[in-house]
Amino acid sequence: MRVTAQALYNITKCAHRVYLDANGDPKDRSEVGSFVKLLWELGLQTEREYIGTLDDVAVSFVGRPDLLLKRRDLASRFGVYGYEPIDIKAGKGWEERDGKRTKFKDHYAFQILFYRLLLERIQGASLPIGRIVNVEKQLEEFPVADFEQDFQEALAEAQRLISGQNTSEPVLGSHCQLCQWHRRCERWVTEQEDPTGLFFVGKVKFRLKEVGLTTIQDIAAMDVNQYLKPPKKIPRTGKDSLMRMKERARVRLAGKPEIRPGFSFPARTREIYFDIEDDPTRGVTYLFGLLIKEQERAPDFQYFLAKRPDDEEATVRAFWEFLRTAGEEVYYVYSHKERSTLKQLMERYDLDPAVLETYKSKEYDLYTDLIVKYSDWPTYSYGIKQIAKQIGFKWRDPDPSGANSIAWYNQYLANPTDEAPLQRILAYNEDDCLAMVAVKDYFEHVSASSHSCSPTEREGS
Ligand code: SF4
Repeated sequence: MRVTAQALYNITKCAHRVYLDANGDPKDRSEVGSFVKLLWELGLQTEREYIGTLDDVAVSFVGRPDLLLKRRDLASRFGVYGYEPIDIKAGKGWEERDGKRTKFKDHYAFQILFYRLLLERIQGASLPIGRIVNVEKQLEEFPVADFEQDFQEALAEAQRLISGQNTSEPVLGSHCQLCQWHRRCERWVTEQEDPTGLFFVGKVKFRLKEVGLTTIQDIAAMDVNQYLKPPKKIPRTGKDSLMRMKERARVRLAGKPEIRPGFSFPARTREIYFDIEDDPTRGVTYLFGLLIKEQERAPDFQYFLAKRPDDEEATVRAFWEFLRTAGEEVYYVYSHKERSTLKQLMERYDLDPAVLETYKSKEYDLYTDLIVKYSDWPTYSYGIKQIAKQIGFKWRDPDPSGANSIAWYNQYLANPTDEAPLQRILAYNEDDCLAMVAVKDYFEHVSASSHSCSPTEREGS
């Protein structure tokens, strides 16, 4: 039985993955995607491969931190020095809101605490802080004490899962997209009619199961009032959440999307469908893709592309200029990522904040303000790929994904004489924009044909 730092990372995302990695049938593993392969090449996921070479070594806890820093301020068994483990991460450690640090990411902290535990056994000493090098190449520090208890619990659970003492179940969600067990778990969820086949259920399913809501049929048939008071009260789940869940279960069983009335779109003659591509492993934003739709004219795809990471600043500045000089358009996006990336870039390059404020006033997030608010879909994820495919939209690329876009970008950087990967990125980005157009058109079409009907009416009918 081997517990690795990778397992401690994974357990913060999905306990079942830890179980399957140790006990799953290898035949059920899908091929590793090109993005995951890229991460391996970059040395960000080498641990599992390395540990695979230790077959004959009797060990139970194994980890390989990226760096060991020799510290003179840490007395250990070795003398008046000791070692501190540091990991290099493709993201930031501290989450921020309104410029204030809110929380250090537990998946990073758990890995550092694991290395610290291993080192403590060897050198008999450790520091009260943990540190990572983040994507901006800065050292970020967190207090170990904040995570100690949760870490010990996660470690004990990882041991039980890896040894097979505990089994666990899939919890389908957006975190599954890069997981090798994805197909297996999707199959299981479909066969079992598991509640995580519904959007936004996630780990709540364990609370649902405790009160007898074990399948999507159970949820579709539930009397919501029964689950608002003891003995079947579901902790931290109110009436609105249960009503939405019931509605989604009904939609899932019917296999057809349902659109609610009440939505509207800004009346603009110029619509811009906007999608950013970035590479978190390099900390670079390499593409701003814009599909511009003006009345009577064919849609026009324009873009700002940083062919090399060093071109990022010039590319962002050119894009800022585009934003500054644009007119009365509306920007359709499919996540909050565009505005948060623009904010980061503004801070990185000291760009005019007024431009971002104007952009924000013109932005319409189709995911948050339309899909989640005004519709239900028979799928566990409301990502653009799942939603657009439901309405018959097809990407030109046989394997379209943001993760693959990153892999293609790195493929191009490795051999800039071949621009085919860049063309693939551009076509993929344009199709993402066209998928947004298809989604908006679909809503307009449904609205025009008045096929909508409110869930409240249905609930009472
Ligand atoms: S596919 Fe999802 S539920 Fe299944 S093991 Fe992977 S992360 Fe967990």
